[in-house]
Amino acid sequence: MKLLSIVVPCYNEQEVLPLFYDKITEVMDGMKTEDSGLDYELVFINDGSRDATLEGLRKYAREDSRVRYISFSRNFGKEAGMYAGLEASKGDYIVVMDADLQHPPEFLPKMYAYVKSGEYDCATTRRVDREGESKIRSWFARKFYKIINRISQTEIVDGAQDFRFMTRQMVDAILSMKEYNRFSKGIFSWVGFRTKYIEIKNVERAAGTTAWSFWGLFKYSLEGIAAFSTAPLAIASLLGIVSCALAVIFALVTVIEKLCFGNDIHGYPTIVCLILLLGGLQLFTTGILGQYLAKTYLECKKRPIYLVQETENDLKKTESEN
Ligand code: UDP
Ligand code: MG
Repeated sequence: MKLLSIVVPCYNEQEVLPLFYDKITEVMDGMKTEDSGLDYELVFINDGSRDATLEGLRKYAREDSRVRYISFSRNFGKEAGMYAGLEASKGDYIVVMDADLQHPPEFLPKMYAYVKSGEYDCATTRRVDREGESKIRSWFARKFYKIINRISQTEIVDGAQDFRFMTRQMVDAILSMKEYNRFSKGIFSWVGFRTKYIEIKNVERAAGTTAWSFWGLFKYSLEGIAAFSTAPLAIASLLGIVSCALAVIFALVTVIEKLCFGNDIHGYPTIVCLILLLGGLQLFTTGILGQYLAKTYLECKKRPIYLVQETENDLKKTESEN
């Protein structure tokens, strides 16, 4: 019997959790009837929720032996949640999906068919529209994909989502990347393997609110660039070469002006402009260097990606003791 692990990171999802649970069990039970060789487990990650998400997960774990959960000691972010879920999953196939039903469980049979056929190692969805999203956000998103794909060796597909159906082999490859600054969109693509993109329309969240603010996403996109490209580091050299060239041209112009036309040399404004320009460029490039240094600093501390406070095993243990 093959096992499918469904990994679901949850942060303040008390409202959608019952909707998600009902839907996923319905779809999975349907799949099981169709393919009697397929069993499943649900691996929820409670990423330090401040609402009743954990209580909900405890309830499901008590009632349904296929439900497992890992509860973090605080909010570690979705990336850490996915990593923990992949690490805990025991399945031959693994799915990562959001709890808010923006990743429709109805797609699972189709994804399973692609991966089971042996033709693909991974099936994922790709949004082809950004309906229901603000114009500014879409614009920035498109620009981000354009920039990162120009400067990074790793292809980051526009609209690709973290809704992924993968083989054990691919998940093991992902788990072997133990970096602290995790940018999954890059990691999924970096490990390679044959990926099938299924195009879908944008789906709105079933209930609750998104945890991502505009600035949160903006910072995340910069992390993505720093994690999968070193091109910004080359900016310093490029700017240096350009300003040297400009300086040579400027010197020639000044000498020719003086010798041929006897013009006075205008010192003060030129000096002020140059000081500001060069000072700014230097700070800018030192800033970029600093960003990479900070990432290196965090990586070399080798802090754990997440910390667990409670799992379904702890729950069962305490309840059997009482
Ligand atoms: N999530 C998480 N930790 C966080 C933020 C989000 O585990 O710090 C989960 C969240 O519960 C959901 C998924 O990640 O299942 C996607 O989050 P959300 O829907 O807020 O993001 P969006 O769909 O707007 O990109
Ligand atoms: Mg969402």
